[in-house]
Amino acid sequence: MKILAAVDIGNSTTEVCLAKEDDVGKIRFLSGAAVFTTGLKGTADNVTGILSALEEAATAANISLSQISHIRINEAAPVIGGAAMETLTQTVVTESSMLGHNPKTPAGYGTGVGKTININHINHANTSDPYIVVVPESTNYETAAKLINQAKNINITGAILQQDEAVLVYNRLNRKIPIIDEVRGIHKIKDGIQTAIEVALAGHAVRMLSNPYGIATLLRLTPEETIHITPIAKSLIGAKSAVVMKAPYSNPAKPQKIGKITISGESIINVDFNQGAEMVMQAIDTAGTISNISGEPGTNIGNMLANAVKDMSALANSNAVHSPGSSHCHQEVQIRDLFAVDTFAPVAISGALAGETSLEKAIAVAAMVTAGRLPMQEIAKTLSEKTGLYTTVSGIEPVMAALGALTTPGVSLPLAVLDLGGGSTDAAIIDASGTVASISVAGAGELVTMMIQSQLSLTNRITAENIKKYPVAKVESMFHIRLETGEIIFYEDGINPRFFGAVVIMAPEGMIKIDEDRPIEKIVSVRQDAKRSVFVKNTTRAINKLLPMSMPSQGNIKHVILVGGSAEDFEIPGFISTAFADMGMVCGRGNIRGTEGARGAVATGLIMAYAGTHK
Ligand code: ADP
Ligand code: MG
Repeated sequence: MKILAAVDIGNSTTEVCLAKEDDVGKIRFLSGAAVFTTGLKGTADNVTGILSALEEAATAANISLSQISHIRINEAAPVIGGAAMETLTQTVVTESSMLGHNPKTPAGYGTGVGKTININHINHANTSDPYIVVVPESTNYETAAKLINQAKNINITGAILQQDEAVLVYNRLNRKIPIIDEVRGIHKIKDGIQTAIEVALAGHAVRMLSNPYGIATLLRLTPEETIHITPIAKSLIGAKSAVVMKAPYSNPAKPQKIGKITISGESIINVDFNQGAEMVMQAIDTAGTISNISGEPGTNIGNMLANAVKDMSALANSNAVHSPGSSHCHQEVQIRDLFAVDTFAPVAISGALAGETSLEKAIAVAAMVTAGRLPMQEIAKTLSEKTGLYTTVSGIEPVMAALGALTTPGVSLPLAVLDLGGGSTDAAIIDASGTVASISVAGAGELVTMMIQSQLSLTNRITAENIKKYPVAKVESMFHIRLETGEIIFYEDGINPRFFGAVVIMAPEGMIKIDEDRPIEKIVSVRQDAKRSVFVKNTTRAINKLLPMSMPSQGNIKHVILVGGSAEDFEIPGFISTAFADMGMVCGRGNIRGTEGARGAVATGLIMAYAGTHK
């Protein structure tokens, strides 16, 4: 009897599994474990993680490490993905800027549209125009209410206050109007700016200002301007009140040069990022097999690509130093794929009404870099020295993933496996004879987390990661919560009072409070949008690239199996299945060995391959 261990080192996760081979060569799986990869994938730093995963699996199998007779480490695909994001100030700075705001205690309800006017200038107002009055801190609520009441023949449709006094002013008004308060940057609001405010009815969210056509209606926007305010409308979904201003852009941020990329594929294509993510992706799609992508140095995109590949360059160069006979220390890193997606990021721009909610159009980019080969032998050697166990490097990642995926009940050849990881989305197709074709494309779970973090303006990446993984709920009383689906759950023993009124993440270990105050509807829409835009696009992209490359016998694929960390997601498999169902394929999350869910495909494949060669 022999005990075998298989190890898969990923960008994010190191997965191991243990199996027992009896004297007649029959294999039985014992246990598996997954830990965060320590260090950069493909470096000797990974050994620490491998050891803790092996120990965890050994404990679960009730054996000691020394009983392992053979460790097999997967020959990891030399693919590393990185993601970066930049705001593209230039694309949003037109003649005007429009800003959103969401205070806690506005007053009144409905919409108001008009030109801004400082309450102390109300005598200069004319009787023909509608106005929104602006009340600075220096004017208290009593004076403000008095001045508004006195201006009987002026058409005042709403008010914006610097202090948190909306309700106090409202209660004193003869003619009721919607009022928004807590606008800190009120001194920046000049007179005469066309402005729309909206306060929702209790229990409702704003309707007009969360809809691009609603804003267009109120502020009389051109179709072009309507396109520009779309991200603002989106950011106001779920807000209880909002103000959107069509302000002359008084203090434009220093325009940044967005820059071009040069795609070296079957031909050379230059594409300007000003044209947006969709045009960039079209260029990538038409480029065919890409040998490198470079960004114009000193521009936004140049910086972004440099950031995205920083880690990989470090690895490639440490490689160059390690590999014997290598004379040059600097290895050029080649970007083999790029994924761009339009997004937006809240940025404090100068001249903003409330810096924290002004939005800029942004572009997020994932880049995939390939190295010649990762120095897996180094890892095997270190691991063997540390454990005294016989360790070899074997297997090819996509083939192993496919073999592992095949252990899912209900699947048959030919099939496609989509490995949804952290940095890259990998696709493999195996035909009936077991021949595998594979491809990797840039962009996966890390990019989704990054988009969630920026769009919700979260200070902590871990919060974004948790929002991605679990549903959210609102703690409505000490004894009940309302899930994002509307369902209500009661807690007989009560809920920890510190959660009261908060939006919480429903993690399996318990509720996690989101420190930032974001409406639940917005969290859900940002989360789902980010997942769809990355994974639906990327899985179709990978499959479309692969199908023409595959043999005729593979054209008939009926099963698409999703594996990898992001396939564990509670929504992503559903989004992808829906897209693939249209192509007549069965698509779903794998269940490796019938027990492991989407995890452990590669490690399982390694054991299966061993069994196959030792029969
Ligand atoms: P790799 O093979 O590159 O190491 P993994 O297959 O471990 O990558 O996938 C890592 C990604 O999976 C990360 O982006 C992580 O956020 C995501 N992930 C892990 N668990 C879950 C989960 N339960 N739900 C959604 N995403 C998850
Ligand atoms: Mg993986």
